[in-house]
Amino acid sequence: MRDRGDALVARRANVGMVVKMPEADPVNLFDAIGMFLSDHRLSPEPAHYAFAHQVLSDPQGALAQSVARLTDGGVRLSHHDIAELGGVVTAGAAVTPTVRSVEQREPVAENPEDQARAEQAELLMARAELQVCDFTDTVRSIHAETSGFGRDLAASAAAIQAANPVSALDHIAQLTSTMIERVHSAECRLAAAERESDQLRHALEEARGFARQDPLTKLANRRAFDEAFDSLKTPAPVVIAVCDIDHFKRVNDEFGHAVGDRVLCAVGRTLAAEIEGALVARYGGEEFAVLLTGVDVDAALTAIDRARSAVAARRFRARETDTPIGTVTISAGIAVGTAGELREMLYAKADAAMYRAKAAGRNRVFRAG
Ligand code: GH3
Ligand code: MG
Ligand code: MG
Repeated sequence: MRDRGDALVARRANVGMVVKMPEADPVNLFDAIGMFLSDHRLSPEPAHYAFAHQVLSDPQGALAQSVARLTDGGVRLSHHDIAELGGVVTAGAAVTPTVRSVEQREPVAENPEDQARAEQAELLMARAELQVCDFTDTVRSIHAETSGFGRDLAASAAAIQAANPVSALDHIAQLTSTMIERVHSAECRLAAAERESDQLRHALEEARGFARQDPLTKLANRRAFDEAFDSLKTPAPVVIAVCDIDHFKRVNDEFGHAVGDRVLCAVGRTLAAEIEGALVARYGGEEFAVLLTGVDVDAALTAIDRARSAVAARRFRARETDTPIGTVTISAGIAVGTAGELREMLYAKADAAMYRAKAAGRNRVFRAG
């Protein structure tokens, strides 16, 4: 049993072997299923047995015919082929027969939501694996086609030298136009693979919650903040606060980026712990954005100022050397608006207030005028 790319070469050279489709003899069916699983590198699992049984128990049926067409020339079924034919391929089936199917896995989380997320991630992993297999198939077949073209071209060049230039030139023209078609088809297949991989990457990010989480601080990220603001419907006032670490460059310069990262995380944690009921997001760099709803602007100002003071009260030390980093402070600006207001405008007002707080000496909270 060969891989698809090799088989394509074999097909062109007319030396392809034909996959035997065993008869539906009940005595031999068991052995035939075993052979089928082994030929297609499928692990012995119920879903794979079911697929093999369906194919082999009705050799004249539509499914068996489709498999026969796909495997003509000794081509092994790809995971994609099996999925397209309605079969289920479990993760790692081709290389690790001991990996159990998603359905058989024991629960990995007690919480049903976590369990559902874990299962979704498993399915995506299986999809990713299928995609990698398909991509490998595509690249192999393209490789086989181009090397076959090179060989045929060399043969035609040899024919020219052997003094049959007219027919050889015709042959070269024919080969070239075939190759142009193949290149075009390869480009389409690669573009489709790229599109699918983008969709998959996006789905994986969504499934892991990465799309809306800052990887360093584990707080909500800018996208999560913007979406939360945009989804607000209540006519009640909303407050945006922009909090920026003061002279943060100094921390990086004096203690290194890794220490700076930890200070960033600690400041984020303090803000999230101190400002109850608010969405605290890392908006970018050393800037955090806070979204408060259902509070008036005075209460919001008090909450942000309490958080500012909690940050300033902390005494940071570099873990590696135990050297004191000293005080780290933030400056903040807050702006009040309504849910229907344009987010960018409200954010810009809070940002301008934050810069006024910096200009006034830092470590303070200003309200937009
Ligand atoms: P200011 O009080 O005016 O805000 O001064 P600043 O030093 O905080 O501001 P500046 O914009 O000059 O520098 C911001 C620094 O924050 C520079 C950049 O390297 C650092 N920074 C941004 N993101 C990260 C990060 O993820 N990790 C670390 N360690 N540093 C970061
Ligand atoms: Mg700063
Ligand atoms: Mg900044």
